[in-house]
Amino acid sequence: MKYKFCGRSGLQLPVVSLGLWQNFGSVDIFENGRAIIHRAFESGITHFDLANNYGPLPGSAEENFGRILSRDFTGHLRDELIISSKAGFDMWEGPYGKGSSRKYLVASLDQSLRRMGLDYVDIFYSHRYDEHTPIEETMMALDSIVRQGKALYAGISNYEKSEAETAIKILKKLGTPCLIHQPKYSMLQRTPEDGLFDVLEKYGVGCIPYSPLAQGLLTSRYLKGIPSDSRAARPNPSLKTADITQQTVDMLNALNNIAMRRGQTLAQLALSWVLREPRVTTVLIGASSVEQLNDNLQVLSAAKIDDSDLAEIERLLSSR
Ligand code: NDP
Repeated sequence: MKYKFCGRSGLQLPVVSLGLWQNFGSVDIFENGRAIIHRAFESGITHFDLANNYGPLPGSAEENFGRILSRDFTGHLRDELIISSKAGFDMWEGPYGKGSSRKYLVASLDQSLRRMGLDYVDIFYSHRYDEHTPIEETMMALDSIVRQGKALYAGISNYEKSEAETAIKILKKLGTPCLIHQPKYSMLQRTPEDGLFDVLEKYGVGCIPYSPLAQGLLTSRYLKGIPSDSRAARPNPSLKTADITQQTVDMLNALNNIAMRRGQTLAQLALSWVLREPRVTTVLIGASSVEQLNDNLQVLSAAKIDDSDLAEIERLLSSR
């Protein structure tokens, strides 16, 4: 594993991090998730990303992760782990179970800590900007959470560039620098290139792009149809089959040809492409099997994408 300093902080993160949004909930096979976590840690992935609502059912990914920690990562091993959680999206009924108020963030983090059996998380995020809550209130909540020792660092996720800049400035003034931003970024979703990366660089904030494989689209999964065990085939999938058009599949196959020419899988090419961006600290992947994780880990030994392949990728992406 390679480790990289997160922005201008003293914290190093592995360049590949593992997220537990899907595949670790109460509807999933516990031992499969446990095996993925073990393989990740053995390979040097020290950073595990969670949120209050991960599952399904909401909360169950944190519960399962807590079970794995208490069985397999006891004692000093807590000191080898960077564990994050978040609050912002809908979690429980009523006015205090969603949004970005201080009330919700503090209550939700207390619940997350209980579910995971932890005294503190390493990173706590405001999961989204909330237009109904003054941003000062949300940042004050993050600051006080860090001062109380319930989180070691503060982060933001899904904040657009101007919201991010405001949040970063407020946190700086409060004395709790923003450690990291977690935006969506992949070959198929490039919004952070329109100024967000510049903001993060300017203020020395790290960046952990989520869904770098576009939820599995940028892998060999959908090159020949929709497999029955894939994310797109799940009930109420977050990856909509309507988004898997013939035009997209054709482009994915063309990208796959570039990957094969480089001796890579499409997943490895997609991760190499995200990691080519110097402002990216670590890629936040998901995996539904140990095999997928092993495949993705090979990005660590991949050659840089050369200029002619980069130009060809650019042409394919802009033809969509
Ligand atoms: P990815 O884009 O990495 O997609 C992961 C999925 O891709 C897997 O579940 C699997 O799909 C497929 N896959 C992964 N590797 C391979 C491979 N080598 N070969 C074939 N298929 C593969 O990331 P996610 O969308 O899962 O997001 C990652 C993490 O980011 C989350 O767990 C969460 O921590 C974070 N996140 C944060 C959000 C936020 O708002 N802050 C929002 C969303 C995610 P299949 O299940 O079909 O096998």
